Amino acid sequence: MPSLLLLAGDGIGPEVMAATERVIDFFNRRGAGFELQRALVGGAAVDAEGDPVSDETLAIGESVDAMLFGAVGGPQYDGLPYEKRPEAGLLRLRKHFELFANIRPAICYPALADASSLKREVVEGLDIVILRELTGGVYFGEPKTIEDIGNGQKRAIDTQIYDTYEIDRIARAAFELARARNGRVTSMEKRNVMKTGVLWREVVEAAHKDGNEDVKLDHMLADSGAMQLVRDPKQFDVIVCDNLFGDLLSDIAAQLTGSLGMLPSASLGAVDSKTGRRRALYEPVHGSAPDIAGKGIANPIAMIASFGMALQYSFGMITEAKALDAAIAATLAEGLRTADIAHGAKAISTDEMTDAILGNLEKAL
Ligand code: NAD
Repeated sequence: MPSLLLLAGDGIGPEVMAATERVIDFFNRRGAGFELQRALVGGAAVDAEGDPVSDETLAIGESVDAMLFGAVGGPQYDGLPYEKRPEAGLLRLRKHFELFANIRPAICYPALADASSLKREVVEGLDIVILRELTGGVYFGEPKTIEDIGNGQKRAIDTQIYDTYEIDRIARAAFELARARNGRVTSMEKRNVMKTGVLWREVVEAAHKDGNEDVKLDHMLADSGAMQLVRDPKQFDVIVCDNLFGDLLSDIAAQLTGSLGMLPSASLGAVDSKTGRRRALYEPVHGSAPDIAGKGIANPIAMIASFGMALQYSFGMITEAKALDAAIAATLAEGLRTADIAHGAKAISTDEMTDAILGNLEKAL
């Protein structure tokens, strides 16, 4: 039986997770057989268990096919030491399960094209993916220090490090992903000024030659890639890049699509040799939105679409994933909007948006 661990978290996390559970129930009524377990994460886990993610929760994570994560954080936790902060729970999950590949699709539903800061014709129908290396590079490299060098001067050092295996595995994940889409990968780095860029390109090329030549591979310098991303984003299919460039480029891509409440993501790890399953955590890009928590007005689409990614990448349920995406598009095409995407027009609640998506899902299958 397919199994999921639901980690709802804080703020609007439980609200959008409840909406997603209704979608999971829908598929279960049609025989999908998802087995669900639930655990606390983030501030909720700090309050009840003393840690933002407990060892027991990690153990449950080990036993399931995939994890769905809502959002964590809130102003009441801002004063806690770093390792007790809700966000540390998410970092611990990523590290524990070695989730090195972060997939962020940027999809622009036609009904929302006017919410983008770019012209409708540039973004309408956009469907690209940014694949970001998530566990290496300059955010983790040592030394990472600020030192006093005398004469009132300080020196800050961050270290960008990549080993062959880290580049190889993300490159192969990019080819795998592209094969299930439109068969094109654009690798971005700064080989003109960075040694990691030189190695990045070399290893991506080697991984391409080693059984992946059915996928078309291009290279771009990351600065020029950023420019191309806002000039003509539809030219891309899968963009693969390191942790730092991926952080920047995926936020640019997010802005192309309108609202934070619309964006799903997946973080994937290695295939477990015992179970044959790829470690996976699916989560909306947005945070816990304390400003609207408890009001029942959060947009559930990013969380529901994150479950859609789980259908696609963890469970191979491609027909169902496509139907769910079509149901979201149809709901938006009917003009239904939660407050974050209503732009002053009439807004509906989280429950009403979920009802509408379920209604359209019924029609789509
Ligand atoms: P946020 O994403 O929570 O909210 C930013 C703005 O977008 C807010 O106005 C919010 O109301 C709105 N918004 C976000 N998601 C929405 C949705 N689904 N529907 C409607 N509106 C939505 O970011 P923030 O305000 O910078 O952070 C709030 C808290 O969330 C902080 O504690 C932060 O550390 C945490 N955070 C957590 C994650 C995560 O869990 N992955 C990610 C980002 C921020």
